[in-house]
Amino acid sequence: MSAQPQRCFSCDRELEQLYVCVPEGEHPDEYLIAEAVWVSPLDRQIGFCGRCYQRQLFVGLKPEEIVALHWSFGRCDADDSRQTIEKKIGRLLLAVEGLPCGEVYCALAYAYEPVRQRL
Ligand SMILES: [Zn+2]
Repeated sequence: MSAQPQRCFSCDRELEQLYVCVPEGEHPDEYLIAEAVWVSPLDRQIGFCGRCYQRQLFVGLKPEEIVALHWSFGRCDADDSRQTIEKKIGRLLLAVEGLPCGEVYCALAYAYEPVRQRL
C-alpha cells in the first residue's frame, strides 16, 4: 500500500492544506481546496480536488478511476442540503452507469433517503 498522494492528480495543488496564501486580488477558489478525495480502484492511488472534479479535468485517468471519483464526490453526508444531495445524486447516477455494483447502489440509496424524508 503506497502513501496517499499529497497533490491533486490534475492540478497538482496540495490537497491537505494547513494554511492557504491567497495573493491579493486573486480569487480564493483558485487556492483554497474545499473538497478532496482519494480513490484507488486500480493499482495506483489518486488524489483529486473538488474544483478539478467540477471542471471534469479527467485527462490521464482510466474509466474505472473516473467512476470512482463520481462515487467519492457523490457520497452524501447527513448534513448536506437538499440542493447538495440532488447534485450528488447526479454524480452517483454517473457512477452506477459506469460501475453497477453494490457499493455504488448503497451510496445512492443513502443519498435518496433524506430526500424522501423531506418530501
Ligand atoms: Zn485539482
